[in-house]
Amino acid sequence: MLSYRHSFHAGNHADVLKHIVLMLIIENLKQKEKGFYYLDTHAGVGRYRLFDETAEKTAEFKEGIARLWERENLPEEVRRYVQIIKRLNYGGKELRYYAGSPLIAAGLLRAQDRALLTELHPTDFPLLRNNFKQYANISVKREDGFQQLKATLPPKERRGLVLIDPPYELKEDYDLTVKAIEEGYKRFATGIYALWYPVVLRQQTKRIFKGLENSGIRKILKIELALRPDSDQRGMTASGMIVVNPPWQLETQMKKILPYLTEVLVPQGTGHWSVQWITPE
Ligand code: SAM
Repeated sequence: MLSYRHSFHAGNHADVLKHIVLMLIIENLKQKEKGFYYLDTHAGVGRYRLFDETAEKTAEFKEGIARLWERENLPEEVRRYVQIIKRLNYGGKELRYYAGSPLIAAGLLRAQDRALLTELHPTDFPLLRNNFKQYANISVKREDGFQQLKATLPPKERRGLVLIDPPYELKEDYDLTVKAIEEGYKRFATGIYALWYPVVLRQQTKRIFKGLENSGIRKILKIELALRPDSDQRGMTASGMIVVNPPWQLETQMKKILPYLTEVLVPQGTGHWSVQWITPE
């Protein structure tokens, strides 16, 4: 079953959080000259037109990136993220395009870095391939993303980041994410693993936290931004990023910018945020 299309959600509050964390991790990796490997297991198409009918139908970006678009005095880290999206919009005033995770990464990678993007959707995969055909250091495969942690780790660079961003259409995804991190970690314990998660039913999300807690893996940070308190009604109330082996600056950076993001992305005042260790060092 592959009915999920990210174009409906591109640029929403969850993308904003995910992509800021992604940018910060890559910036931190770039502090060393040596190249690194970036694996994007669930890549989507990489570039989204916000004025096409899928995005317009839900207009989720209006409660995400659009709320940051014309702001002045953004915290420095948020400003750099908005700058990436502005460049994609040809520096224009109008917000017309949004970058998916592969494009955010592609703009930050250096010649010595390398990326693999995997996507399974029959319509989205050719779009992804087309969007990245001009990048010499980025390859694209129509493969199961979870399998890539087994198939491609450890990377020859011995430095790297794996972004795991499944659609959670299937309940199994909650367990598959934990298994994938365990598989990856067995092969490449010094790698950074960043996992996006939604909070729809808190019980489901807790399965991931518990699974990781029981895995024996140390140094797992959880970053969450909620629009409203947990609920048993339909719909996502919050989303977060779990980062294994986070760069040391990430915790401080996120604690600095999350109060701002919560205030701006949730103007109705029902939002809250947290940065907590699932397992410390
Ligand atoms: N990471 C993207 C971003 O931030 O721009 C968004 C990815 S979207 C949440 C999830 C994507 O995973 C969808 O495009 C879906 O088609 C794809 N997908 C679903 N199952 C997959 C699998 N097992 N392997 C690879 N891709 C998969």
